[in-house]
Amino acid sequence: MVPTPRYAGERVLVMGLGKSGLSAAASLRASGAEVQVWDDKPAQVQEGAARGFSAFDGAKMNLEGMRAVVWSPGIPHTLPKAHPLATRARAAGVTLTCDVDLLVEAQTDATVVGITGTNGKSTTTALTAHVFKNAGRKTAVGGNIGIPALELEPLGLGGTYVLELSSYQLELMPHLHCDTAVLLNITPDHLDRHGGLEGYIAAKRRIFSYQRHPRTAIVGIDDPHCAALCRALRDDGLHTVIPVSVQGPAPGGFHVANGVLIDATGSRPAEIVDLKTIARLPGAHNWQNAAAVAAVAHTHGLSQAQLVAGLRTFPGLKHRQELVGTVANVSFINDSKATNADAAEKALLCYDNIYWIAGGVAKEGGIAPLAPLFPRIRHAFLIGEAADTFADTLEGKVPYALYEDMESAIEEAGEMALKNKLPGATVLLSPACASFDMFKSFEERGDRFRDEVRELWPEAVAQ
Ligand code: ADP
Repeated sequence: MVPTPRYAGERVLVMGLGKSGLSAAASLRASGAEVQVWDDKPAQVQEGAARGFSAFDGAKMNLEGMRAVVWSPGIPHTLPKAHPLATRARAAGVTLTCDVDLLVEAQTDATVVGITGTNGKSTTTALTAHVFKNAGRKTAVGGNIGIPALELEPLGLGGTYVLELSSYQLELMPHLHCDTAVLLNITPDHLDRHGGLEGYIAAKRRIFSYQRHPRTAIVGIDDPHCAALCRALRDDGLHTVIPVSVQGPAPGGFHVANGVLIDATGSRPAEIVDLKTIARLPGAHNWQNAAAVAAVAHTHGLSQAQLVAGLRTFPGLKHRQELVGTVANVSFINDSKATNADAAEKALLCYDNIYWIAGGVAKEGGIAPLAPLFPRIRHAFLIGEAADTFADTLEGKVPYALYEDMESAIEEAGEMALKNKLPGATVLLSPACASFDMFKSFEERGDRFRDEVRELWPEAVAQ
């Protein structure tokens, strides 16, 4: 556990008693703070009470003299509707913060690498941490990924925290001071929480605030918002800016051309590795992540050999184009994290001869934007609420069938792929839908896919 001694003797309110709120409360109490807790859900208040934390109704609590409110980033505090407790805290001059902020505030001697972006945060964070650990660096990974921030190991001087930072967290981090900050990409997302695109960009931009010398800013320049931000950071003269691109050259940075990762930080561009040979990083989207990691590794003095060794041994993350196993040249891929068409597009782009399991709760627009990729799909296996509308979109273009449950879809997809014996055949769960009509979460959906594949084809092993 990371201690938070700066709060010793202070009154602190922890708002939101999920896993990270409870661990923040525990760290603060162990460090001598006077901790009070609150959650709008009575069951969570009871969780807190079971651990000996006194709950006071947040709506009535006296906030005068309180040092901070540790706010759970998932709970809206300003938009779309101001939370009364947040409004009262601000009126009383009390700072809103979050558990990841407490970590960086407590561990000022450690190095902080912060990573944000609309897509690819988790992959880039996990890959950076893997490359660092593989190179023998003392590293911990957290933030919006893995175990709660204050349950990480205290690393102190010589250690590096690699932190995934969501826009929600970035708004609640008054003490953030990244040594190296990465912004991968920006596409409109969570606009209701940020009052529109400008607010969302402003939240992402916060990752570059209060950086520590040499203030390295690594920026993906493949979308117009990030490209503009990159120019602004260069112009402010305060940052060491390293651009990253998979669409064209990135002078002074890292880019990917035809799958080959290139270091253009020196006087001449130098090829590092052909990313097409790394099966766990498929697709241009993962190449953007890899190029950003190369920039972080370069900034922190890792050798090219250490970077390549890390990229090659990355095991990948669950539910993101996770290779569950291969049977007689048919690959079974779990991409359950693809909860919208944009994400499913990334996976569909990576394979030919696809046996596609899709459906669930569709987002607006459904799968119509994926039409250019339909020729790659040999057969679609549709499940969940969206099955009928997806069938309408596929009609006349892709053969399809509808299934009551995912298990039967998997069985038929696997049998058909094994029977047809097409080169590079892939059974792909990339639903382009949320999961909650049939599952608790995308994780449960992906776990069920993995279990079912292994039960039906015990010989399926991931190499
Ligand atoms: P996040 O943590 O930002 O949600 P993940 O690393 O979990 O991102 O990836 C989630 C999905 O986003 C992946 O399954 C893939 O479809 C897509 N993705 C990953 N990296 C990128 C990227 N750099 N650009 C665009 N999409 C990406």
